Amino acid sequence: MPLVNDCVFCKIIQGAVPSSKVYEDDLVLAFLDIAPFNYGHALIVPKDHHHSITTLPQEYLARMMCLAPKIAVAQMRELKAEGFNLLLNNGRCAGQEVPHCHLHVIPRLVDDAPLLNISHKKYSDTEAMNELAARLQKRVEL
Ligand code: AMP
Repeated sequence: MPLVNDCVFCKIIQGAVPSSKVYEDDLVLAFLDIAPFNYGHALIVPKDHHHSITTLPQEYLARMMCLAPKIAVAQMRELKAEGFNLLLNNGRCAGQEVPHCHLHVIPRLVDDAPLLNISHKKYSDTEAMNELAARLQKRVEL
């Protein structure tokens, strides 16, 4: 799938919109998020326009996931971060604002603000939990 004209991340990949580049190769580009959770917060984007991770070819996905810990280590060393979050919002209801698949690499500091504030649900019992796992298992294929 080629890059598309009305996508801000495609424009960044093409150099039509400026970015603060952290890494680039033939398959991916990483740059700083313009509104970071913490300084150094980076985005890894595939050089192929896909709204969703579910249609992204595996070579892009593999490169993104290999790169993420490398950027995280750079953030921890450079920014004295203690940890990091990898975040991928997929779909509007999941908080995806830019419809070009991207992986957030967010450096975390001791005592900084929580990223997500979702209350946990509880399964009615173990049987219900196992029954749902079995239904999902039937649908998962690699
Ligand atoms: P998401 O909510 O997962 O779609 O995240 C989109 C992210 O892209 C947000 O954190 C924005 O701050 C970031 N963003 C949007 N436009 C730009 C841009 N031109 N340069 C850098 N980051 C951007």
